[in-house]
Amino acid sequence: MSDQDNLITARNLSVTFQIGKGLFNKASLKAVDNVTLDIPKGSFFGLVGESGSGKTTLGRAFLKAVPITGGTATYSDDEVTYDLGTLAGRELRDYRKRAQLIFQDPYAALSPRMTVRDIIAEPLEVMGLTKTRAETDQRVREIAAKCRLNLEHLRRFPHAFSGGQRQRISIARALVSDPKFVVADESVAALDVSIQADVLNLLKDLQRELGLTFMFISHDLSVVAHTCDHVAVMYLGRLVETAPTRQLFEAPRHPYTKALFSAIPSLDPDDTGRAQRLVGEIPSPTNQPTGCKFHTRCPHATEQCKREEPQLEHADGPGHEVSCHRWRELMSEPA
Ligand code: SF4
Repeated sequence: MSDQDNLITARNLSVTFQIGKGLFNKASLKAVDNVTLDIPKGSFFGLVGESGSGKTTLGRAFLKAVPITGGTATYSDDEVTYDLGTLAGRELRDYRKRAQLIFQDPYAALSPRMTVRDIIAEPLEVMGLTKTRAETDQRVREIAAKCRLNLEHLRRFPHAFSGGQRQRISIARALVSDPKFVVADESVAALDVSIQADVLNLLKDLQRELGLTFMFISHDLSVVAHTCDHVAVMYLGRLVETAPTRQLFEAPRHPYTKALFSAIPSLDPDDTGRAQRLVGEIPSPTNQPTGCKFHTRCPHATEQCKREEPQLEHADGPGHEVSCHRWRELMSEPA
């Protein structure tokens, strides 16, 4: 796949925050570490990992919501190409229309003092995308209908709605500026399972209908399995495995990915053979292990793993990459 086919291209991307205060306390936190990945145009790209893996920060870096401190990230649609590391001024304002975020918590994300109409209309007004109230109203009604909101409800306030309806309001607000790239950060995590399927189906329909590219961030591999075309797995700021969804689910190669799979509850009562439970906590990003960052929790760690950091390399399927010294040896291990 050429770079022209990718909406987002990241090369050795890092995001480091300075967290120490004062002259003698210069501690830093590397939230995203040397990430290289491509997000193809029109894809539903999943990014998974535990809390603290850096997935949210990576999504924010692509939205220019946190500074990129190393490497490069490029956004390229059919009209413009932007270097996200240096983007500023008028071009940054233009990028805000093109790249949007759907928030995690539909309860906290919506102002209780604004009507649904005003919540959805606000980005249009802030970005100056419509000239008259009638034009704004028309655009709000269009996107509300696409998000399967009842147009009679536009005059109501958010407290009158269920979690699923509120998330559809959040989605309409994110899409009202007609973006090309949407980061959905744990966008169904706060919803009941039955409502999750509804919202995921809506996102997939909108992706197809509007030609959107989604980056879908989740801690839940089972949600990603049903939604995404391609999945990248992060651990402590690093990309540890990436593959087309089917390939990843049929043949995960990284011990961390396998451990995430084993955490998915099985519907089969006879399935007692959980391959590998994830033990312990993810280490602090301010005090990262040497070598492979997963070695403190990996049952297959060797002395080499403690010393040398593995690099992402091609695994055994198209588009499949893994960062583990021992993935070939471990191929016979159950997923
Ligand atoms: Fe485990 Fe070593 Fe592979 Fe890291 S490099 S995942 S510690 S086997």
